[in-house]
Parts: sequence; structure tokens; C-alpha cells
Amino acid sequence: MSTTKIAATLYQLQQLDLELERVHAEQQALDNSLQGDSVLKKLRTENAIAQQQLQLGLQGQKEAEWALEELDRRLRMQEQRLYSGAVTNAKELYALQQEVQHLRAQQSRQEEMALEVILTTESLQEAANKKAEALKQAQEKWSETNASSMARRDQLAEKRQELMANHEQFVSGIDPQVLSRYDALKRTKQGRAVSKVDQNSCQWCRVILTASELQRVRTSTDLQMCSNCGRILYYDR
Ligand SMILES: [Zn+2]
Repeated sequence: MSTTKIAATLYQLQQLDLELERVHAEQQALDNSLQGDSVLKKLRTENAIAQQQLQLGLQGQKEAEWALEELDRRLRMQEQRLYSGAVTNAKELYALQQEVQHLRAQQSRQEEMALEVILTTESLQEAANKKAEALKQAQEKWSETNASSMARRDQLAEKRQELMANHEQFVSGIDPQVLSRYDALKRTKQGRAVSKVDQNSCQWCRVILTASELQRVRTSTDLQMCSNCGRILYYDR
């Protein structure tokens, strides 16, 4: 590949890189604006808290119900023993009666507690439903308002993929050494490693090239750099 052709290829690569940067910058700006407004953020937080509280409530309800079941089971068992006639010893019988009485009292307390927990969970459920609905409505409204931005975002994502594929193919055709030189320059030269020669000047820094410099840009077998800004010079006429 001739030097002018290499410089031309690098210039094209630079155009592609710049286009990718533009797309990326627009994507970021869009993403930022599509983050949603403060109202939506507030609703999201409130909804998350309400759902969390509901989960805790449901867990508490389950535990209260388990405890009640366990008491029921023990009570049934002791009642069975009491009424089966198997215990005849007066002392033992008395102790058993006491225990059954105690378990009944415990059961009724636990029933009250479970009922309270259920009522609390119900109101938590109601609150969580309201928060979820409010968030859903706000999101729908927000989507309507931002439909065009969202469409643009999809468009940009597609464009970026296309450019990336192009870029990959393009880069595969360039000598790795030349490419790494280009990349290194790009990093230190504000993303512009190549500058066109325009009216005998470096288009980037406007320094005028001497006749011999111009000659070298056109004919040398090495890439020529601008003596002022250090960019690879590309001559296209
Ligand atoms: Zn220059």
C-alpha cells in the first residue's frame, strides 16, 4: 500500500472514529435525559419501600400463622389425652387440665395476634398496590412524553452497531504497526491523529508547509508528520 493510500485509509478511519464518538456522546446525553424526572424517581423509591414493607408483613403473617398451627396441634394432642381416659392419676390429671387451660389461653392470644398481623398486612398490601399503580401511571405518561427520545435512542443503538461493524472490518485491513501508531497519536492529539493538507497548510494547525515538506507528503514512502502539531499529514489531491 502506498504511503498516500495509508494516510487516506487512516483519515477514513479517523472519520469513522469521530462519527462513533458523536453517536456515543448523543447516546449518553439521551440516556441522561431519559433517566426520568425527580417525580418518577421519588415514586420508584416509594414503591420499592412499600413492596419491601409488604414482604416483611407477609413474612410476619406466615410466622404468626405457623405459631398458631403449632399451638392448635399441641392443644388437640393434650385434649385428646385428657378426654381419652388414659390419665387416671389425680395429680397428673390436674397437671394436664392446667396445661390444656394454659394452651387455650395462649391459643386465644395468638389468634388475636395473628388477626392483627393479617389486618396490618392487608393495609400494607393496599398501600403497596396504590404505590405500584401510581408508578405505573407515571411511567406510562413519561413514556408517552419521551416517545421520540426513545425512538432516537433505538436508532442510535442501531447506528452504533453498524459503525462498530464497519470499524472492525476497516481496522482488519490496516497494518497493525500503522494502527498502533495511529492509536497512540489519537490519544495524545485530542482524538485527531490525521490532518488533511489543505491549500498547502496543515488543516488542523494551519501551519504552511514548505515546498519540500509538500513534496515528501506526496511522494515519501514514510508517513509524514506536521512539523508543528505532530499529526500525520494526508494529501488527497
Ligand atoms: Zn499541524
